[in-house]
Amino acid sequence: MLKVEELNVYYDKIHAVKGVSFEVRDGEICTLIGANGAGKTTILQTISGLLRPKSGKISFDGVDITGHSPNKILVRGLAQVPESRRVFGQMTVLENLEMGAFTRRDTAGIREDLEMVFHSFPRLKERLRQPAGTLSGGEQQMLAMGRALMSRPKMLLLDEPSMGLAPILVDEIFSIIRQVNKTGVTVLLVEQNATKALEIADYSYVLSTGKIVSSGEGRSLLTDASVRSAYLG
Ligand code: ATP
Repeated sequence: MLKVEELNVYYDKIHAVKGVSFEVRDGEICTLIGANGAGKTTILQTISGLLRPKSGKISFDGVDITGHSPNKILVRGLAQVPESRRVFGQMTVLENLEMGAFTRRDTAGIREDLEMVFHSFPRLKERLRQPAGTLSGGEQQMLAMGRALMSRPKMLLLDEPSMGLAPILVDEIFSIIRQVNKTGVTVLLVEQNATKALEIADYSYVLSTGKIVSSGEGRSLLTDASVRSAYLG
């Protein structure tokens, strides 16, 4: 579904992503793990069109989307849930969710998807009229995911959904990611929480200083000695 080939991304002279290639298959949960500064966020932002690569190719659903605008990429069915869950703090929960559907005109479908989001995140339904800025960290993460789902994406890009959350909330978020995936949404998840990310993944790639250094089925990497020593302690 998503194919990244020989991707190179720079910030001025800093070569942040160095010839990265990987693939996410239709219907799977794929994770990209790696330490701070490995280049995970840079890769996601390049896929979603927020950054331009120096070279390389990104294809989604068989179409070359390299260098396309974020809006065009979203309309194709690729939605990103940003790091540190940037929600619109002054707007209510409902308004945030409605914003997620800004590319759509199918009122009935939007209504249906709102119900689906409320079903996955009952806590959001209880707080519909509350300004998003007053939600807890976990609730804001749920809202950021719900908002992305309102575009009815084929694929979701998630940037460190566990960051800053209590362990019990991390479990809840990961179980929701699984549920969303079961409804047919392909997932690419970027995480520093390697154990969690490997447990949930069908397939994983390990990133270190801008390069992919290892890959395999999620559970097999959990027992891989080099991955264990570098990322799992
Ligand atoms: P983290 O988990 O800390 O977000 P990451 O794996 O997502 O780490 P990136 O944020 O993609 O890593 O950063 C990759 C490299 O690019 C790092 O060396 C970082 O310092 C550098 N970098 C990231 N953003 C910028 C920027 N706006 N300007 C200059 N360098 C940047």
